Amino acid sequence: MPALALLLAGCSGVWVPEKIENRVGELTTRAVLEQMPLHKDPAWQTYLEKLGGKIAAVSERPAYHYRYYIVESSTVNAFAVPDGSVFVTTGLLKYAGQDPAALAGVLAHEIGHIARRHGAETLQAKLGYGLITFIVFGFENSAAKQAGAMSTQIMELGYGREMELEADLCSARYLVRLGYPPDASLKFLRILLPLQKGGEDLALAKYLRSHPQTGERISYVESYLAGSLKPPGNMPK
Ligand SMILES: [Zn+2]
Repeated sequence: MPALALLLAGCSGVWVPEKIENRVGELTTRAVLEQMPLHKDPAWQTYLEKLGGKIAAVSERPAYHYRYYIVESSTVNAFAVPDGSVFVTTGLLKYAGQDPAALAGVLAHEIGHIARRHGAETLQAKLGYGLITFIVFGFENSAAKQAGAMSTQIMELGYGREMELEADLCSARYLVRLGYPPDASLKFLRILLPLQKGGEDLALAKYLRSHPQTGERISYVESYLAGSLKPPGNMPK
């Protein structure tokens, strides 16, 4: 590992500076907003901000600048961008909005991605030490390109199996910290499960493709809640 990377890595393993994570995230957020119109509903917006604020406050990164966007799309989706932006579609609200715990579970999963710096980890994995060049010599053009690629990746593919499951554990932990019943973070997944079995639903297809199997996610969190699954070593106590 080059010296600069070693210096930046500390002991967390993620060495991308927050400034770069944030800048690429801002460009990604802009790219998303160019593709998807905002759903302007002040009541839902306020609700989301208050709920998100409570959840973020009990996360590992409470002081980060979280923002919440509702975008117009019949596609069921929610995703987190490394600048702290959390997006939910109107299609997702149709399902998760029925139950306050279900929506809290969805938001907590997305906040988990940001709190655990999954965006920075993804950037690091994609660009490797090439990022150091941008850190040292300036990164605007390359960051803009990466942001475009990243917005596509997180909307279409999610963060990958391991980080998705970790975000599910974050969701369970945050909701328990807020006093929700232990399995509250599973509410949304339990709404999805029968819909998924009901056959092809195009609105759900993208969400299901970008996350591990819903059944597997439920069992994973259930094992964690039952104490038979140990959290990853780097999870704070
Ligand atoms: Zn996710």
